[in-house]
Amino acid sequence: MDNKFIDLHIHTTYSDGIFTTEQVANAASEMNLSAISLTDHDTIEGCSYLAEHCQEKGIEFISGTELSVDIEGYEMHLLGYFIDINNKRLINETTQYQQNRINRIIELVTQLNKMGIDLQAEQVFNLAKCKAPGRPHLARALVKYGFCKSSNEAFSRFLRKGSPAWVPKTNANYRDAIELIHQAGGLAVMAHPGLNKIDNLIPKLVEAGLDGIECWHTRHPKSTTKRYREMAAKLDLVATGGSDCHGAEQGHPDIGTRQVPYEILEKMKQKLPTKLGPSK
Ligand code: AMP
Ligand code: FE
Ligand code: FE
Ligand code: ZN
Repeated sequence: MDNKFIDLHIHTTYSDGIFTTEQVANAASEMNLSAISLTDHDTIEGCSYLAEHCQEKGIEFISGTELSVDIEGYEMHLLGYFIDINNKRLINETTQYQQNRINRIIELVTQLNKMGIDLQAEQVFNLAKCKAPGRPHLARALVKYGFCKSSNEAFSRFLRKGSPAWVPKTNANYRDAIELIHQAGGLAVMAHPGLNKIDNLIPKLVEAGLDGIECWHTRHPKSTTKRYREMAAKLDLVATGGSDCHGAEQGHPDIGTRQVPYEILEKMKQKLPTKLGPSK
């Protein structure tokens, strides 16, 4: 039997990805993936569209999102899988997450203006053309209007944490976010722990009901994947994975390059029934 592979971490133009939902489905099909999930930042808007494209291509689609959450003053990304995309609370509350993003862009632009960069927040929103704008859109606007030569330069000069224009985003509390995903019938998974350096907070996440840890990720070397898989097994959490593809702009390898085995999805499904309740 052929080995089947999946990619459970993908972004589209509904947040800061470059690819449309249709392009993602085409790329997944070219990579012969058996299943994919859409995990746009703080939105579930693209899921219904990608589900349709996946159906046409015979690819299994798992609804998903990547919520920005606060844990003890750190920003962490929480993946939600198998969420009911018609869940009213999820739809309502992600609107607040999106408002936090909009406010943050306005604050970042204000900082840039103080530094003599004559850019307007509206220019960023017009370029982003989505409800969940982020720093990558601001970076692209800085390139488009001639303030930087590349998005990388925009991040390293202005937008990365600790640089002159950086301001934090207001994020929801991790406990509330885990509960939000659960009440929508989903599994809550800690995204790319290798990038966060907050392993010491994992017990708190587990206590709050965390279901899994993302082990395979483009920026996780093999040793990191191994370490988190062992940790997940020990803590009885599911080990998930994906490319975190945003497009080509940030040098992210393409969709499906992490070779995440299909069995992962089966293990996730086994975790599901205990979480499933009537979706409100
Ligand atoms: P935000 O959610 O607005 O804080 O932006 C975070 C997003 O910016 C991440 O999901 C990445 O897509 C992207 N990003 C973060 N750091 C960098 C960087 N140094 N260079 C390019 N893109 C980055
Ligand atoms: Fe992103
Ligand atoms: Fe992330
Ligand atoms: Zn992501």
